[in-house]
Amino acid sequence: MGDFLGDLKKGLNKSVEDLNKSVKTLEIQSKISSLKKDADAVYAEIGKRAVEESGPEKYGELGDKLQIILAEIRTEEEKLPADAAETKKTKTCPGCSAENPGDARFCSCCGEMFEDQNP
Ligand SMILES: [Zn+2]
Repeated sequence: MGDFLGDLKKGLNKSVEDLNKSVKTLEIQSKISSLKKDADAVYAEIGKRAVEESGPEKYGELGDKLQIILAEIRTEEEKLPADAAETKKTKTCPGCSAENPGDARFCSCCGEMFEDQNP
């Protein structure tokens, strides 16, 4: 029976050892993937600088792809100001001078009603 307990103990020790090993492996893997992410960010920055220096034409298909995406960003950005200005418009409360959203009917600070000031 002594052997049985001994074997059990050995087996348990082995399991704990394996567990420690896999935890260690996971830690190393996560460290590696985080470092790879850092490397990718640096690669991206290097690539960006290279393209800015020599122009996207030098990079063939990838350069074309990039130009299409950049054009799309500009198109979207052109749509932006109108929308952004709309939400940026604020009303200043005449009672407490708190800033309220442009479409507010009353002051969120003191509750003063706003008269409709349609421009
Ligand atoms: Zn107010």
